[in-house]
Amino acid sequence: MFNRMAFIGIGLIGSSLARVVRRDGLAGEIAVAARRQETLDAATRLGLADQVTTDPADAARDADIVVICTPLGAYAAVAEAIAPALKPGAIVTDVGSVKGAAIAALKPHLPAGVHLVPGHPLAGTEHSGPDSGFAELFEGRWHLLTPEAGTDAAAVAKVTELWQRAGSKVEVMDPTHHDQVLAITSHLPHLIAYTIVDTATQLSTDLQEEVIEYSATGFRDFTRIAASDPVMWRDIFLTNREAVLEILGRFTEDLTAMQRMIRKGDGDGLEEVFTRTRAVRRSVIDAKQA
Ligand code: NAP
Repeated sequence: MFNRMAFIGIGLIGSSLARVVRRDGLAGEIAVAARRQETLDAATRLGLADQVTTDPADAARDADIVVICTPLGAYAAVAEAIAPALKPGAIVTDVGSVKGAAIAALKPHLPAGVHLVPGHPLAGTEHSGPDSGFAELFEGRWHLLTPEAGTDAAAVAKVTELWQRAGSKVEVMDPTHHDQVLAITSHLPHLIAYTIVDTATQLSTDLQEEVIEYSATGFRDFTRIAASDPVMWRDIFLTNREAVLEILGRFTEDLTAMQRMIRKGDGDGLEEVFTRTRAVRRSVIDAKQA
């Protein structure tokens, strides 16, 4: 598909896509940029890089496609660095979890004639770094693309094909809508998990030990989500601030309503809510997203 492909950042997501590209021979050569030598050494050891560099511009030079796979907070600096090295007609795409902020950070720096096709794989784990990646990560998962109207159709088609080769189902979406949807499906659940686990860590030592010992009753599932990368999630909450605050406001109201039902002994009310939510689980399973 590409003569030269560049990855800026090669952690869980970047290395998983690079594994697909290698497995299926989708690029003649892969150039990888990261900050730490340790990360670059891992990319080489895993056979995912023909060229490694700490300079994003070196990786992006002559690339047909550049895939930005760093935390969102690094985007503006990365775009500024690669801009002078991009060849006309190059595609720039990314995998960041917040699309409005991704576009705002990238677009002003990119020269005319370079095609920006932002994207977000709805796939991941709580692990980080190149060793945690695997080629099957994207299979059966959604990949949402948020190109501006008027973006070169051939560039959008190429990025679509790349993710379809990785096994994803690709859909085009408005970036603001994407950020609202993800605020409820991903960002709020992570915030709740971080809060519950942190509440438990503030308990007295005796209770804390019991929380760990008896965690299989529910707490355990939150600890997996709350183990997600701190830098990545810091950037998600800082960049999707408005949508998260909006949904958090609604959540707080609903939580207060639950609190009232418990205080008033409103069993019917509680049962009604829990019956509704049980049906949602069924829909998730039916949609093969469990
Ligand atoms: P990761 O495993 O922590 O990898 C991040 C990569 O970016 C590393 O190679 C790191 O290189 C590099 N990097 C970090 N800060 C940088 C900076 N300031 N400048 C240049 N390079 C930098 O992260 P990830 O989980 O793959 O996430 C990457 C992106 O995917 C994020 O934008 C995230 O929103 C998105 N995403 C993640 C998931 C998920 O579940 N993890 C799911 C969907 C989308 P060094 O090791 O050298 O620092």
